Amino acid sequence: MTMESTLVTARAQLRRAVELLELSENDWQTLSTPRRILEVAVPLRRDNGNVEMYKGFRVQYSTTRGPSKGGVRFHPQIDMDETVALAMLMTWKCALTNLPYGGAKGGIAVDHHTLSLSENERLTRRYTSEILPIIGPERDIPAPDVGTDERNMAWMMDTYSVNAGFSVPGVVTGKPIVLGGSLGRTSATGDGVAISAIEALRVRAIDPKGATVAIQGFGKVGYWAAMALENLGLKVVAVSDVNGGVTGFSSVAQLWEYYQSNGNIGMPGTDKLTQDELLHLDVDVLIPAALADSITEKSASGIQARIVVEGANAPTTPGGDKILEEKNILVVPDILANSGGVIVSYFEWVQDKQNYFWTADEVKQNLNDIMMRTFKEVEHMATEKKVTWREAAHMIGVSRVAEAHKLRGLYP
Ligand code: GLU
Repeated sequence: MTMESTLVTARAQLRRAVELLELSENDWQTLSTPRRILEVAVPLRRDNGNVEMYKGFRVQYSTTRGPSKGGVRFHPQIDMDETVALAMLMTWKCALTNLPYGGAKGGIAVDHHTLSLSENERLTRRYTSEILPIIGPERDIPAPDVGTDERNMAWMMDTYSVNAGFSVPGVVTGKPIVLGGSLGRTSATGDGVAISAIEALRVRAIDPKGATVAIQGFGKVGYWAAMALENLGLKVVAVSDVNGGVTGFSSVAQLWEYYQSNGNIGMPGTDKLTQDELLHLDVDVLIPAALADSITEKSASGIQARIVVEGANAPTTPGGDKILEEKNILVVPDILANSGGVIVSYFEWVQDKQNYFWTADEVKQNLNDIMMRTFKEVEHMATEKKVTWREAAHMIGVSRVAEAHKLRGLYP
């Protein structure tokens, strides 16, 4: 962890976009203030009968462009500031990709590894019931994030539905397919990261065939990005999980198989790497797909990659950003690179509203269309205004929210 909190990073990025767009101080006030913040106590009865209290959060940063949207994170270090920062990023991400949503984020300060399956279920259900009054398909739609998955979404959907008295699949996205989930949602964030990497290679005139990739993280984002890139002919040379990295495996699929049966990536025949060694590998594409603050002023100086594609939310601090810019490394920012997840969440919500479900090909094609369109818009803005891709992406997202504010006017 560094001194630069995720909220400081997110606010600095917003400030910069507001300056570049020459928005007013009034606009800054409107855009930099989260609209609704809820903190709840979540009691959990442990399997042994003990009762423990956890802190839960839900932040609805903006609802100007539609219901708020964003994941639920289970992580011991999550707090209100970080939740606000991540909800802010969701706001710009949804506006950038032109989804009819505001932005939200939630979470519980808990290490989910310490929970049994039934403890996880009770905690998820109680959290859902605590935030129940402010969520709903027309209000705020949670989804998976770090430490949660489709099982948690099934429990959230059920808790909400039992209280409503009928099935409400549209209250959360990232659900199992049989409960109204969408085909392609599980791999969507990783697939979008892969689309971003391929496009960034095009911009830098590097042939994707045989291009090398290092990925920090081997979970919901990192694994699927690794698989997609390997299938596209790139060479994934290193991946890591929370315990460190490995290199020297022959294929991602083989490493995944080992990981599934052994719970770690230390497959025989591979070589260990530290997180810093992985970040500093001489590769074409570096993908931080773990937590915030991994590319800092300190770690950025050793980065040799030509391109950084941000699979995680807020992996780069402003100090780290400055160094990447000086080194002329192309950074595809989080709100573009990892937007595949929320884009397919949007498809899921649309399918649930219509009770009409798409084929995997339709999901893939529509995801590709939105990502390519957004990518082109960011590329164009960055070239025209001579700004970084992060600045360009924020300018587009923030200006759409600012315009929506203006058109709606201020009540009363
Ligand atoms: N948690 C994901 C994100 O940070 C997905 C959010 C969603 O699908 O609503 O973008």
